[in-house]
Amino acid sequence: MADGKNRNDRRCSFCGEAIKPDGILFQGEGGATICSECIEHGHGIIAEEIANRKRNSFNITEKDLLKPAQIKAILDDYVIGQDSAKKYLSVAVYNHYKRLLHLSSDRSVEVELDKSNVLLVGQTGTGKTLLARTIARLLNVPFTIVDATVLTQAGYVGEDVENILTRLLQAADYDVARAEYGIIFIDEIDKIARKGENTSITRDVSGEGVQQALLKILEGTVVNVPPEGGRKHPEQKFIQVDTRNILFICGGAFDGIERRIASRLNTRAVGYGTASRRSGVDKDNLLQYVSPQDIRSFGLIPELVGRLPVLTYLEPLDAAALRRILTEPRNAIIKQYQYLFGMDGITLEFTDGALDYIVRKAITDKSGARGLRSICESVMVDAMFDGEALGGKLVIDEDYVERHIGVS
Ligand code: ADP
Repeated sequence: MADGKNRNDRRCSFCGEAIKPDGILFQGEGGATICSECIEHGHGIIAEEIANRKRNSFNITEKDLLKPAQIKAILDDYVIGQDSAKKYLSVAVYNHYKRLLHLSSDRSVEVELDKSNVLLVGQTGTGKTLLARTIARLLNVPFTIVDATVLTQAGYVGEDVENILTRLLQAADYDVARAEYGIIFIDEIDKIARKGENTSITRDVSGEGVQQALLKILEGTVVNVPPEGGRKHPEQKFIQVDTRNILFICGGAFDGIERRIASRLNTRAVGYGTASRRSGVDKDNLLQYVSPQDIRSFGLIPELVGRLPVLTYLEPLDAAALRRILTEPRNAIIKQYQYLFGMDGITLEFTDGALDYIVRKAITDKSGARGLRSICESVMVDAMFDGEALGGKLVIDEDYVERHIGVS
């Protein structure tokens, strides 16, 4: 297959060019030849054509574009409360889809639609990941969740920032064109905040360095992505991914940011609208006033904050919300147990007292919504162990719950 022609007359029958002494020429059956440049050129054209076809074949049309209110209604099925975050996310996703439609239209040259990456701020266990997962359910684009805590600046122990794209590629079955329109949820973004004002003594390899690397990806660039993840090494083959149209949703607890918000609100207390502002402040939920300025003062670099223009918050979950989480979402924990028991022909019921007890326990444990499942597991384990023996109907009341979690 390799160059079989006379060394002095090596010519590509495709482009007609003479081949340099060290050039590579491929020869076909009938004596036709093609040089490596032509092959590379052809490969580029084919890749572009495949990408174009995929882009145009996004199987959404303007007609079946879900409106923000419809997206929110679906989120309502799975996530309790968090109206502000749901609203912002619905709009962001709606606009993301619109951009995709726009890009495959002829008008994309006239107006360029910028993307609006999202930053969700809220205590841990309030539903940030759940929101992102639920969004993924209703979307027809590749989606992945990555954790910012494992990321470090290139060359240090940890994961290169490019690896978040590897995960998206995997979610897209290595279909680059589809991955380039995907959504990435970066969890714990607050953990890469700058570690303090003075970073010159010890290098901040998991903080600002990562933010800089992330910034490039968020801004939109072509990234060499290691297909299997891991560290880059010279012999490795890369897949090039253009991040311009990838939507990023970032989430973080930003522990202690309330103090910054409070002090900002106080300093603002001098000036226009002071009185109304001061009296209107809801001190129990300061997160609702979060602004890009607070995120910057927490330690995210201004450029990165600027690339996350949609900023919204999640509310802390009170007893009423936890109670609803137990029973209301489409895949609520209680519904799941009822289903499991139903498979054994057992009707399972929980009294109000039992549910309230579980909620109180989650609050005293400070484990929030995340703790509800483990509390329920310890309540239900005996019943599940000898479930069949019980037969018929099982009513879980306050007393039953107390007996089963009393000691823990
Ligand atoms: P976060 O990402 O904010 O730390 P998660 O979304 O992972 O929190 O929440 C943990 C679990 O708690 C979820 O899997 C879900 O079962 C439950 N949960 C948290 N918040 C809500 C909510 N608002 N509505 C319904 N379930 C919730």
